[in-house]
Amino acid sequence: MTAAETPIVTRFAPSPTGYLHRGHAFSALTGFAAAQTASGRFLLRVEDIDSTRCRPQYEAAIYEDLAWLGLEWERPVRRQSDHMGDYGAALAQLCERGLTYRCFRTRREVAEAIESAPHGALEVFRGEALAPDEEQRRLAAGEPYAWRLSLGAAERALGGFSGLAFEEHGEVIMARPDVGGDVVLGRKEVGVAYHLAVVVDDALQGVSAVVRGQDLFEATHVQRLLQALLGLPTPAYRHHPLLAGADGKRFAKRDRAETLRDLREQGMTPAALRAELGF
Ligand code: GLU
Repeated sequence: MTAAETPIVTRFAPSPTGYLHRGHAFSALTGFAAAQTASGRFLLRVEDIDSTRCRPQYEAAIYEDLAWLGLEWERPVRRQSDHMGDYGAALAQLCERGLTYRCFRTRREVAEAIESAPHGALEVFRGEALAPDEEQRRLAAGEPYAWRLSLGAAERALGGFSGLAFEEHGEVIMARPDVGGDVVLGRKEVGVAYHLAVVVDDALQGVSAVVRGQDLFEATHVQRLLQALLGLPTPAYRHHPLLAGADGKRFAKRDRAETLRDLREQGMTPAALRAELGF
């Protein structure tokens, strides 16, 4: 089979931290339709690495709500919490190559460091490893730390970021990995961070087209860098606009109203919701 004949593979990758709402339905339907139109494959992935925020009832609801909506996906579903070793291996690889450093700063100290950066600096955190004896002292004292990606080391390893491009809606975009600063790749409570798990999984699952909301557009710049560092393929991207409610505000899990289960309980049919969302 030639590359041109390879069917596209899309995925919907919710985190079970709340019930799905109209915005999720729109995103899932967009990815599903993209796969169907091209006779491709549609995957569902459960992004549950953050055990402090994920709940089993939300995961059960994901399957229920998407089936109600009329979606079909391949089984078995990849649940990230079952594959922590894969992400840990990717993190270990980056650490061994000197592309990361231990950051002992608290969230507040990070925020303060960003605020006190010289005027005009990007509003993101850039740091560096501590001197070895200071690091040893803090490790010995059991102080918590996060592994951060060193943008400086990454830039040196790749000979600059100018080769990092990705396709967005068929248009070639140059990635600006510096928008994210020295992102956290792992910490004590969660192990590995979202960006790392996503690039590992998109590659492992052969995802060729990532369809997701515009709110993750900046994340793509960071993920493109991780793909380059880990030697992983870069899918094509399509970030869709976020749905807004009647009040003009975008839907969010924190607004308890208007989850798919609420709509169902109010008697809405899947066909009516699909029609409302343009499918
Ligand atoms: N799990 C992420 C979320 O629910 C989406 C990740 C992605 O589509 O790359 O916001």
